[in-house]
Parts: sequence; structure tokens; C-alpha cells
Amino acid sequence: MRNNNGLTGFLKRLFQRIPHLTSADPYRVYREIPMEIAIYDTQGKYKFVNKLYGGDDKVTRRLLGRTDDFYAKIKGINGDSLQKRRQYFLQILEEKKVIQFTEKLHFPGKNQTLYYKRIFQPLFSEHDPQELRGVCLFGNSLTFIVQAQKELKYLVYHDKLTGLKNREAFFDEVDQMLIDTDRGEVLGAILMCDLDNFKTVNDQYGHKIADFCLKEIAQRISKLIRKSDQVFRVGGDEYSIVLRNLNHEYDASRVAEKILHEVSKPLKILDYTINYLSMSIGIVVIPKDGKERDVLIQNATFALKNAKKVKISDFQFFSEELTKTSMARLELENNLRKVVNENIFENQFEVYYQPIVEKGNDGSYAIIGCEALLRWHNPDLGEVSPAIFIPVAEDTDLIGPIGDWVLYKAINDFKSVAAKVSHPLYISVNFSAKQMRAPHIVSKVEGIIENTHIKPENLHLEITETSLLDEEQQVLENINALEKLGLRIAIDDFGVGFASLKYLQKFPVSIIKIDRSFIKHINLSHDHQKLVESIIILGKNLNKEIIAEGVENFEHLQMLNTQNCHKYQGFLFSKPLQLHQFEKLLTGDYPFANIEKLPNILENTLNLKN
Ligand code: C2E
Ligand code: MG
Ligand code: MG
Repeated sequence: MRNNNGLTGFLKRLFQRIPHLTSADPYRVYREIPMEIAIYDTQGKYKFVNKLYGGDDKVTRRLLGRTDDFYAKIKGINGDSLQKRRQYFLQILEEKKVIQFTEKLHFPGKNQTLYYKRIFQPLFSEHDPQELRGVCLFGNSLTFIVQAQKELKYLVYHDKLTGLKNREAFFDEVDQMLIDTDRGEVLGAILMCDLDNFKTVNDQYGHKIADFCLKEIAQRISKLIRKSDQVFRVGGDEYSIVLRNLNHEYDASRVAEKILHEVSKPLKILDYTINYLSMSIGIVVIPKDGKERDVLIQNATFALKNAKKVKISDFQFFSEELTKTSMARLELENNLRKVVNENIFENQFEVYYQPIVEKGNDGSYAIIGCEALLRWHNPDLGEVSPAIFIPVAEDTDLIGPIGDWVLYKAINDFKSVAAKVSHPLYISVNFSAKQMRAPHIVSKVEGIIENTHIKPENLHLEITETSLLDEEQQVLENINALEKLGLRIAIDDFGVGFASLKYLQKFPVSIIKIDRSFIKHINLSHDHQKLVESIIILGKNLNKEIIAEGVENFEHLQMLNTQNCHKYQGFLFSKPLQLHQFEKLLTGDYPFANIEKLPNILENTLNLKN
């Protein structure tokens, strides 16, 4: 008691020493200061409470001489939320040093939580600086800041459009899942999902409708998954789903199946019905498919890309086999990029030439042209087939520079050999869809023609049917312009794509090269025979030149002759040859001029194959 009275006197003296506005109430400044102030004696009883801390005058008065338990009761604070304060109070009594802490007070009646920054300041006796007389509590509300932080966190972690959590939150969730897995939590999975055909919605209906689709898909997925699972929007039309506590991998495939089903249901927006949207999904299982976030996401993305490649609107689990393929592809891409970036085409690339042969009216056969076929000799990978590296070049931006190099090289080689023969000859160069789509391709080809002085009619460009299907308008314009330059356009591998009669009429192509898969069976299957026959009739009716690819044996040749096809390319005549071999073949007596009369045709062919 003495002690407490002592504290009151001590406080009085303390406050009186500080200038104040009126001497009538020496505490006035402290009562009204916009900061919470309370002073306890060493028993934890309030000796002074200012307005902001106590609330109104009545409460402030009632608090004096009482402890925090009474404070909690009168304010409606859950007593447990004062636990931290109680601990620090005991600590300051012992250590007698300033303590700072944050306090989270819960008010169950109002269902409200408020946050405070608190400082406990020890108050010592005037006479003995070691003697603790009381503890002063200062406080400021942090609620506003915490709220702002929460809002900021919401903004940082959520996608504005769909309200789903975003990529950042997804990364955090995967990290957390890996921590939980370390602690022994069981199987989880990540589903990387990508909408198919979303670009079409954007092009056809515009951004507003497309945004609506994204929202609707987000809702459909959210409704399907359990509370413990989470869905995130991680990119334009990409979502990812984290599944926790699975019993079996199979559970992940069940979820994927349900999502595929739900997403492909028609979407009704305003007056439109969109019924072609679907989703492809790549799945990784945790921890089996990776123990780091980046690896898991990369693997899930591999699986997704593969799922799309095989068949859209399907899901696929990641497998080691898949990585091997992808790693091999990556290595290939890096090597190819090196050739382009370091401009070492001459070191690793070579163009081979395969003769294109025609049967003349007199029954003899002659070389009328050749197809340029690229070969890649890589020091690390060995010989890589164009059937493997050209698609990689097409998928990346590498086909442009590679295509340019082939075109220059092939034309220059061709000019050197064509000058040595008296009959007309042409060179046919493969052109990928991406090249044909490039906006400046026409002026580029025009420049090459001017630089190399090749006669335009001696240059043929081979494009596949699929290039005609892609971005029709640009391709149509380019093909028209190239044809106007005097070049001739051939449709390569005809029959395997989806080009219909419509395309043959629409595009100014003058040559059709029948794919070798049809020729291969022409002497074995009646159906193939009929098919080839109809392509030939159709082509001729449309005034197109027909070349049969993959003519490998005498039966093929005879069959084609009876069907009125007289231009050929294939191993029967020659495999693709290095420039000097091709030149030798051209400038010598042509061994196949009278091929039908040759007795050992195959042996002769073999001589030229190597
Ligand atoms: P393609 O344009 O259809 O070329 C014909 C392919 O068939 C060549 O394969 C050739 O070696 C092969 N071939 C020719 N006659 C026969 C035969 O009697 N039997 C068999 N089984 N095959 C025969 P290659 O050289 O491996 O080229 C594959 C594909 O790679 C080419 O098919 C073409 O699409 C692409 N390609 C090659 N070089 C280039 C290029 O410089 N640019 C572009 N964009 N693509 C190229
Ligand atoms: Mg070709
Ligand atoms: Mg072909």
C-alpha cells in the first residue's frame, strides 16, 4: 500500500515536471494525448489511465486500482488475447528493461479483432534508480496498417478478373505443400490446366466475352474441388490446381476427368453459345515427380504440352520417359540455336539433292529438276534427320534463318550444276508454314532471286498442305505474290493433310507431290491404288502437274505409268545426293534413261544410293 501511495506521489511529481496547459489538472496533457497510456503499479493494478486507453471518463475511473482482467471484462475482450501482455509484464518486473510487442485483441461480442503496438516502460524511484515503482504502457492502434497489409496481400495474391488466387499464391502453396510433405503428409498433386481453342473465342467474340469465359471456367473448377484443394489462375488461359491428401494417384485423374467434362460443357453468354472450349491437363504427383517447386512445375508443364500434342481435351501424368524426350529435344534445340547464333551453317549443314525424273514422250527418262534436302551433321548429336530437327526449328524462331540459308545455298549450288547441262532444270526448295506466313517473305525471295540471278521459273517452293490451312489470308497473299514473281509452288506430301479441293482451287499452286505413304502401298492395296488414281485424275483436271514421291521399285513405276503419272522422285532413281554426286549424275550419261529395259535395275540403283 505504501508502495502504491508512493507511486501516486511519484507520478504526480513526474507529471508536474513536464510543462502542461493548466495547473488545475496536472495530468491533462497525458489524459488527452492521442496515444494510449496506462500506468500500472508493480502488482499490475492501474494507477493512471488516459482517455484513449479507457474510452470514456466513467470507464477510465473504474479501471483505477483494477487489473487487466477487469479491463478485459469491461471492454469485452477475450481474456486469452491478453496472455502475451501478462507474460511481458512478468518479464519487465524481472528485467526492468523496455519491452515492445504487438497485441492482437479479439472482441467476441463484436466479432472484431484489433491490432496494437505496445511499449512497456519501467518507472523507477527518484531516489533509487534500481527500485521499480511501476510500469507504463504506451500503445498505438495498428489495425489500420494490418488491414491495409491484408488488402495489399489480397491484391498481391489474387487475380482481379476471376477472384482466384494467382501465380504468386500458387508458388507459395506448392512450397508449403513440399514442407508438409517433408513432415510426412501424404500424396499430393499439381494439375496444370490450359484451355484449348481460347484464342478462337478471343478472335471471334472479343475480350469481354473471352473474360467472361475465364470467369465462368474458374467458377466451374472451384465448385468441383474439395475445400482442402485450391485452384489458381496462373496465366492468360492457364489454371493450376493443387490437390492435397490424396489416397492414390488415381484420385488426381478422377479430378482431371471431372474438370475436362465440366469445362467442355457449352457456355452460354448473352446470345452466344460457345461449345468448342475444352481443356488439357498435365499432372505431377508429389513427392514422386519432384522435390522442388521449379522441377514440379516444369514437369507438369511438360506433361501438359504432351497431353496437347497427343490429343486436346485430355490429361496426362508426367513420366520420366517424358523428361528424357523433352531433355533430348532441349539439347537438340540448343545445338540448333548454336548453329544459327554463331552462324556456323557451313560447318554443320549440308544440302543434298534428290533428282526429280520425267518420262518423256519417247519413253526415255530424264532428270528435270531436284529437291534440296537439308542434312545436319552435328559433332555431339551425330546425323540428325530433318524429320526430327525441322519441326523443332519450326516450333522455335530458328526456321527463318535456317530457311534463308538453305534457299541461298541451294540456289547457288543449283546454278553451278545447271550451267553444266544443256537441258532445262529446276530446283525445288522446302518452305515451312512459318516461312510462308512471314510478312516480308516475298521481298526477301525477290531479293534472293535478284542476287543469285536464278530464273524465277527455275525455282519451285514446296509447302505442305497444313500451311494452307494456317492463317489462310496472309498465306494466300504471299503465295499469290510469289507466283506473280514467276516462281512455281508445289504442295508437298499431298494427301496426308486436310487440304480439300477447295484449297487446290483457291491457291495458285501448280504442282502436287503425292505423299510417299500412298505410293508405298500402291502395288499392294487396291484402295491405295484407287486413291492415287483419283488424286492424279483430280490434279490433272485442275491443270496441276503431278509428281509421285517415294517411288522405290519397279512395280511402283509401272503402276504410276498406267495411271498416267510421269514425274517421279524416289530411291528407284536415286537417294538424295551430295552436290558433287548429283553433278556427276547429271553430267554423265544418265543411267536410267532406259530404265524399263535395264535388267538389274536394283543393283544399279544401289550404286547411286551411297
Ligand atoms: P519431303 O520434302 O517430303 O522430302 C522427301 C523426303 O522423302 C526426304 O526425306 C527424302 O529423303 C525421302 N525420300 C525420297 N525418296 C524416297 C523413297 O523412295 N523412299 C523413302 N522411304 N523416302 C524417300 P528427308 O530428306 O529425311 O526429309 C524429310 C522431310 O524434312 C522433308 O520431306 C521435308 O519436309 C523436311 N525438310 C528437309 N529439308 C528441308 C528444308 O530445307 N526446309 C524445310 N522446311 N523442310 C525440309
Ligand atoms: Mg519436299
Ligand atoms: Mg514430300
